[in-house]
Amino acid sequence: MTPVRVLSVASEIYPLIKTGGLADVAGALPLALQACGVEMKTLVPGYPDVMKAMASAETRLELHNFYGGPARLLEGSHDGLALFVLDAPQLFARPGNPYLAPDGKDWPDNGLRFAALSRMAANIGLGAIGSFVPDLVHAHDWQAALAPTFLHYAGGARPGTVITLHNLAYQGLFPRNMIEMIGLPPDSFAIQGLEYYGQVSFLKGGLQFADRITTVSPTYAKEIQTDDGGMGLGGLLRERSAVLSGIVNGIDIAVWNPADDPHIAATYSAGALERRAANKLALQQRLGLPPQPDSPLLGVISRLSPQKGLDLLFANLDTILSEGMQLALLGSGDRELEVRFAAAAKAHPDAIGVVFGYDERLAHLIQAGCDALVVPSRFEPCGLTQLCALRYGAVPIVARVGGLDDTIVDADDAGRLGLAPTGFKFGPVTADNLARALRQARALFADRPAWLGLQRNGMATDVSWNHRASRYAELYHDILATRRIATHHGATS
Ligand code: ADP
Repeated sequence: MTPVRVLSVASEIYPLIKTGGLADVAGALPLALQACGVEMKTLVPGYPDVMKAMASAETRLELHNFYGGPARLLEGSHDGLALFVLDAPQLFARPGNPYLAPDGKDWPDNGLRFAALSRMAANIGLGAIGSFVPDLVHAHDWQAALAPTFLHYAGGARPGTVITLHNLAYQGLFPRNMIEMIGLPPDSFAIQGLEYYGQVSFLKGGLQFADRITTVSPTYAKEIQTDDGGMGLGGLLRERSAVLSGIVNGIDIAVWNPADDPHIAATYSAGALERRAANKLALQQRLGLPPQPDSPLLGVISRLSPQKGLDLLFANLDTILSEGMQLALLGSGDRELEVRFAAAAKAHPDAIGVVFGYDERLAHLIQAGCDALVVPSRFEPCGLTQLCALRYGAVPIVARVGGLDDTIVDADDAGRLGLAPTGFKFGPVTADNLARALRQARALFADRPAWLGLQRNGMATDVSWNHRASRYAELYHDILATRRIATHHGATS
């Protein structure tokens, strides 16, 4: 059977450029799909870190004026990933965070930058590269959401399209004149198009025009159809509910493998959990905490944003102290929260250890060394850190929302569901309910065999991409079959 050809379009891809889970998914899915008869190439922007890896890439297209300057489309590979790279220095030759200027604000031309990425995806979709004419274009998040939009307005034959929502909170909103600047027809500025309360929403374009919409967990797929969870797009998502589904993310189990992890102090497996103690000690030392093997050590690895609910954990400082727990927190983002946690660490050096910034190695050590990983998100499309925690025998304490709800089995629900418990869930998401979950975890931690059971259940959970990738493959086949039927009945686009 000839493979299905899919062009994935993403603004981040692990291991080249990452600010969050989107990069992990964009980097893992193409490799996992190889076993499912899907040939996926990924179009990414030519940021400096990407260009460095493209030294031996070949030029496929040269454009004299593409969104304000010359541009090239390169084709190359990195770490087994087949890549198209949009090398447009006027848009992407900027080091650091892909979306933010050094002053911490969005780059003022983000609309142009990601319209260019999407336009190039649409061009490839329409056959610009003879050696790779995709059957489908798979766009991720608002940065790629105009790919299905441009393809819709191109008219005529086009590939199938799918958009995956990794986080509805980021929608790509721009002033009305953006429509003209990026070359969309004036009538696309309409309620049935990209108009969003007088502005232009890139994400809305993708949600409106993609053949299918997926998000990264079934519960989040339901939540975003409500007025509360829909963040202004709930109505549109309800209208499109027949083509909306949730597929839970996996993690790369080769990168996240406690039995063979170069970033941790001692490798281990479910059968040798006593070896985790060396990692707990190393983590305590790294964060300046006194070694206390018998105190439960809580871990956090997170962006510090209101979404992640770490203010609720901060509000539980007293609970952490009174229950004799320690906290190892790695995070970056919200300055105010950083200041508050830094002050707490200073006031309670025996209990609170913090590192601010982005540190992949430390993230691994936290997973391997903490006893419980806390994820108190107010909403969470899927969440990856709790999946890593399962694999590393760190017991997740999570909010009962989105993908956290779908991936963790609470001890109290396990019997009713006929599943093995893997962690603790609390909801509604309040500081008091988090306090209860922390105390519950503290009590169970004292019951060594029960705690060990939770750890082992977590480690036995399949968090890999294997069966998740096949869900995407099925989706692609479904879209193509539906389009064949539509074409047969004379309908295009
Ligand atoms: P989101 O994409 O909303 O930030 P996810 O849980 O889906 O949240 O993915 C976060 C990813 O980024 C995980 O792989 C996590 O380990 C990583 N991560 C988050 N913050 C940091 C940090 N400060 N240092 C290192 N890795 C981090």
